[in-house]
Amino acid sequence: MQIRDVRTISVEYTLPRPVFDANYTMASKPALLVEVETDTGLLGLGEAAHFGGPLVSTATVIEQELRPHLLGQDPREIERLWELMHRRAYKHARGGIVIAAISGVDIALWDLRGKLAGMPLWRLLGGYRRRVPAYATGGFYAEGKGVRELADEMRAYCRHGFGAVKLKVGRNSGIEGSPLRAMADRGVCEVSLAEDLARVRAVREAIGPDVRLMVDANGAWDVPTAVRMGRLLEELDVYWFEEPVWPDDLAGSAEVASKVAIPIAGYETCSYGIVSFRDYIAARAVHFVQPDVAWAGGLTETLKIAHLAQAANLPLAPHIHGSAVAVAAAVHLLGAVRNGSMAEMVFPAHPLMEDLVREPLVVDGAGEIDLGERPGLGIELDPDAVKRYRVG
Ligand code: MG
Repeated sequence: MQIRDVRTISVEYTLPRPVFDANYTMASKPALLVEVETDTGLLGLGEAAHFGGPLVSTATVIEQELRPHLLGQDPREIERLWELMHRRAYKHARGGIVIAAISGVDIALWDLRGKLAGMPLWRLLGGYRRRVPAYATGGFYAEGKGVRELADEMRAYCRHGFGAVKLKVGRNSGIEGSPLRAMADRGVCEVSLAEDLARVRAVREAIGPDVRLMVDANGAWDVPTAVRMGRLLEELDVYWFEEPVWPDDLAGSAEVASKVAIPIAGYETCSYGIVSFRDYIAARAVHFVQPDVAWAGGLTETLKIAHLAQAANLPLAPHIHGSAVAVAAAVHLLGAVRNGSMAEMVFPAHPLMEDLVREPLVVDGAGEIDLGERPGLGIELDPDAVKRYRVG
């Protein structure tokens, strides 16, 4: 069996209104899909992360840099193909765009492998559980969105059945090193640290004491601010404190982890695969290990990261922020390993999470996702929806 083609499909959904995290503006949800086709006509479906830049950059790496190495290769030899892609490209870049591109191809190869085996990936990669608990990720900043609207939003997640919710913090340019200082939209939806604390308090009051509450600073705080805010958040029974500091500040994250009695989660932005996570785990800089399957090296690499985390007695809570394809890959990983925590789910799902594929994974009234028994990722693109959302 040989790989006949590797191609990308760019899709994008425009949000009704832009939302903001600590330092980023999201006006749309773009996604870069990857198809690997064999000489037998079988298709594997993957997705490569694009965060921080246009889809075309990563698409170019896949089509012009990786594709020539893959054509004619046996798609069942995933470990070897991963090494081939990585060894060919490592002088160009060892993380970021290149490893995101490798991730998209790798997920497609695993989808193919599952289809060939007639087995869903959660079984093929380990086989731990078919049902995976999910948490609602939201609580973004938006223009005109006050504390009351935020509390209503988070309460609605609980009403749907979620037992855990996460909101954004950290959109404050008044602290040293704030990434917002460099942003053109500095000032938009900004809050003070006191206002951020009030937002979290209002959400805790809205959801009651029994729902897990997480906060995500998207790397925006310096160590003193993260320690100070983390200690104030302790009384609100926060389940995890995500990316408190800049992802390159490993020692800073370890310092926060040692001084705050809330587990630290991270770092989706450590995009150099197992090497980044090895260092974070060894430094005890995180308590929840959060690779993105579409960003940190695909299922091949994140499965290894999961095992590394398990050896350190740490749970895996992957960052999930793509289309239905990236969602499926991450939730299958969570169904495969024994140290899987919860699946991050944007809710309500946007069209690229639901309409884009037939039989998307959805969160049921118990706040869980049933991975089912369909082979591979268990999803197929809907050609009409692809046409509707295709860009470029
Ligand atoms: Mg995050």
